[in-house]
Amino acid sequence: MGVATSTAAAMVFACALASAAFAAATPHPAEVLIERGAEAMRSAPDRSLQDAQAALVELRKRPDVDLEIRARLLLCDYYSERDQAMLDAEVATIENLLPRAQRRGLRAGMLVCQGEMYETLANNSQALAYYEQAVRVADEARDDEMMAGALVSRGYVLGLQGEYALGLADLRRAQGLYDALGMRHHAITAMNGIAILYNRMGDYAQARDIYRSALEGQRAAHMLREQAVTLHNLGRAHEYLQEWPEARRAFTESLAINREIRYARGQAYALRGLAAVENGAGNWRTALDTLAQAASLQAETPDARLGAQIDLARGVALHGLGRLEEGAAALRAAIEVFRSGEARGELVAGYSELAAIEAERGDWRSGYTQLALAKQVNERLLRNQIDQRFATLRVEFDTAATEAENAILLRDNRATELALEQSRAVRRLQAVVIALGVLLLLLLVTLAIHQRRSTLRMRALALTDELTGAPNRRAVLGSLATALTREGAGPCTILITDIDHFKGINDRYGHPTGDEVLKIMAGAVRDALREPGFFGRLGGEEFLIVLPDTTLAEGRVTAERMRECVAAVDLAHICPVGRNITVSIGVTVSVPGDTPSTMLQRADEALYAAKRAGRNAVRVCPPPGASVPVADGAQRNAVDQARGENLQDATRPTA
Ligand code: GH3
Ligand code: MG
Ligand code: MG
Repeated sequence: MGVATSTAAAMVFACALASAAFAAATPHPAEVLIERGAEAMRSAPDRSLQDAQAALVELRKRPDVDLEIRARLLLCDYYSERDQAMLDAEVATIENLLPRAQRRGLRAGMLVCQGEMYETLANNSQALAYYEQAVRVADEARDDEMMAGALVSRGYVLGLQGEYALGLADLRRAQGLYDALGMRHHAITAMNGIAILYNRMGDYAQARDIYRSALEGQRAAHMLREQAVTLHNLGRAHEYLQEWPEARRAFTESLAINREIRYARGQAYALRGLAAVENGAGNWRTALDTLAQAASLQAETPDARLGAQIDLARGVALHGLGRLEEGAAALRAAIEVFRSGEARGELVAGYSELAAIEAERGDWRSGYTQLALAKQVNERLLRNQIDQRFATLRVEFDTAATEAENAILLRDNRATELALEQSRAVRRLQAVVIALGVLLLLLLVTLAIHQRRSTLRMRALALTDELTGAPNRRAVLGSLATALTREGAGPCTILITDIDHFKGINDRYGHPTGDEVLKIMAGAVRDALREPGFFGRLGGEEFLIVLPDTTLAEGRVTAERMRECVAAVDLAHICPVGRNITVSIGVTVSVPGDTPSTMLQRADEALYAAKRAGRNAVRVCPPPGASVPVADGAQRNAVDQARGENLQDATRPTA
């Protein structure tokens, strides 16, 4: 039954395991959609939106708070660049769901989303405040994925604010986290961010090289939107380096991809880049046409900074066409936005261009002011760029040092862990060996006890008469030998009893009845004997009774008592005809130097004398040279007695 119960329990357990494994193997349908949507967010935002919405439909059938938040974070990401009202609604819903979420790090995702909205509105300090909070939340929740997302956003904005070293550190850390999580797409995004920072630091060549290698990864991974963004950034690096043909190629390709994925904001960026290339070539009109397209696309998406960049390029083109008033207005609008966004590089370009227009208009004072401002900002920009390059070097050095330190710590930890594991293994082995040893010992002890018991039993069996349970011949003779050689032992009297005409019982009632009689006989002797007397079966129907520290006279009295006891046993239940048995008994006493065999010889002689005397009688055979007690108490010489009357008659046979 125990086996049946445990088998049933094992089956229930196995079923539970199997269903758990099945549940683990078949994720929520929404999860698949969310993961696909997250990938698509960087390549095809519209598909990402569709996946998020489909996930929400699945989640209505089978609710799951964490997954719903993740789906809504995708929507947030999508709307943060497109529709503030929708974004606000999603943030409010997520805020409501968060208290019931298992994954606490998800709050960081929401904070990043909120930050992105401010970033799009060119309110970088507000965006940064949200990103800082997101980093803190992700750190507390030990959520690496959310942490990486928050770091990418924070690093990018820090870069926008001129904190290149800090921004780079964030982006590098994010790239490392994404690499460790196996999130290749996101790791490339972080790498792209690093290149953008180099660009801002004025290290356009470095930026260009990173963009190129990021682009390779994005092409291999078919990350369309990422490619479009990287191509735009690459175009911008070429633009700064005044590599016009390369810039045109990059912007053109970016535009094509943005059109393919219907990403209006990306198209607007690419068009601005192409306009800048036209400006570089002096094609003012083409530039203006291109910028008009960019502006109309930009109007669909609220991106203040992009609007300002378009205005800047428009100012340059209008200046080229001699439309000074319009150009100045466009530049002023751009400068306003760049100043609030602290976009110094663009600010310098804006001031310089405005200074040139003012000079052409003859407003030398204003021109000078603009030029001074441009110089001032440019100096600040350059100083900051130099400072930041040093700071970056320091951060890089610190990071490398920390990494080396961490590697050493990690190695030490691993070594310690390994040593611990080894010592644990040794201890486990020791425990097993000890347990096995104890088990073996127990086994040996059990075996020894068993062996000893069976030895004792064997010995007992070897010394016991099977039929009567009395000690057998060997046992009783051994005990006699011990009694004779015992230190300080007195005289030892022995009796040999022999059932009279026993053969007749066998013949008349059969052997089994004879056996019964032998058992009864043994019982009668056992009952009649007193300590320290003992007895045993010599063989056949003969028993030996040993009476240590007993004189011959005392022995003869005992023998008489025995004889009478046996004669009194009623055998009517087994031998109905002859209802009684009688015994003949021969008695002798020990003298120094006697052995069991010498004593047996004398007792046998006495027994024969008893038989010859007509049976049911006791006869003694004293040792040679000993005086023999007689019935009336007088002492006679036993040898004379033996010679004269053979052996002394102790009793009269009963009738
Ligand atoms: P006596 O009075 O001269 O002693 O005559 P007896 O018949 O007792 O003596 P005898 O030596 O002629 O016979 C002994 C018989 O005891 C012979 C044998 O068959 C029988 N006997 C010996 N051992 C056993 C035994 O274990 N069981 C039984 N049932 N009989 C036994
Ligand atoms: Mg006999
Ligand atoms: Mg006999």
